[in-house]
Amino acid sequence: MKKGKKLYEGKAKIIYATPDKNLVIQYFKDDATAFNNLKKSNIEGKGVINNRISEHILSNLSQVGIKNHLVKRLNMREQLVKLVDIIPIEFIVRNIATGSLTKRLGIEDGTVLERPLIEYCLKDDKLGDPIISKEHIITFNWLSKAQLDLVDGNLKRLNDFLLGMFRGVGIKLVDFKVEFGFTNESNKSEIILADEISPDTCRLWDSITEKKLDKDRFRKDLGDLIPAYTEVAKRLGILHEQSNVTAVNVTKLSSVKKKK
Ligand code: UDP
Repeated sequence: MKKGKKLYEGKAKIIYATPDKNLVIQYFKDDATAFNNLKKSNIEGKGVINNRISEHILSNLSQVGIKNHLVKRLNMREQLVKLVDIIPIEFIVRNIATGSLTKRLGIEDGTVLERPLIEYCLKDDKLGDPIISKEHIITFNWLSKAQLDLVDGNLKRLNDFLLGMFRGVGIKLVDFKVEFGFTNESNKSEIILADEISPDTCRLWDSITEKKLDKDRFRKDLGDLIPAYTEVAKRLGILHEQSNVTAVNVTKLSSVKKKK
């Protein structure tokens, strides 16, 4: 698929046009950001691993009928995806209290929630992604009541699926953030899951040791982010000992080539 002009550059990904107006290329960068862009770094190989993990998860979701934007992975850093109009809301699902929830409400870190908690945040960096209620979503017409019910249903199924998938490989799914969008097809636009699902957007703890295997390693300066993400990929059966080494080496090779 021929790569056209850059349409959008976000914090961790770039979107490029393709000859098909309904499809775009999603490129995974190595950039890491946290605390609303205050903390930034470049972690070599992160984009390659997230591309693979997100491809694995989204293609499995398609197989259980959770519609999403993934068409196929194209190469180490790129996926062909359906173009969507992103809904300006971050949908967060929590199974264990940590992060902003503990700070905001004084809930003890690590509290296992009796039922999954869905939170909505407005996607607006200038405002610091404020938490909003269902009433805000409906009042400001970001979604209708029926559309919001559909998304909530999807979030519950998604959480059940991801909980089981990670539990099967010895990982606790603590919480995650996802985004949805409206497809571009003029006659039958529908709401589908978009963006990515990876250790950048989930909190993942080893089931036994509770070692963090996600972006909190960057947020909290714990180091060893690539080994942690690689561990997630290996447990999911995506990267094997050999191909993991290859993934990082290929990144190095491509950056060496560019420098020449
Ligand atoms: N999250 C994300 N992008 C954001 C904010 C949150 O992917 O802009 C994810 C985060 O990795 C975690 C979940 O959403 O898995 C809940 O994050 P929280 O609200 O606790 O935010 P944080 O503590 O990171 O500010």
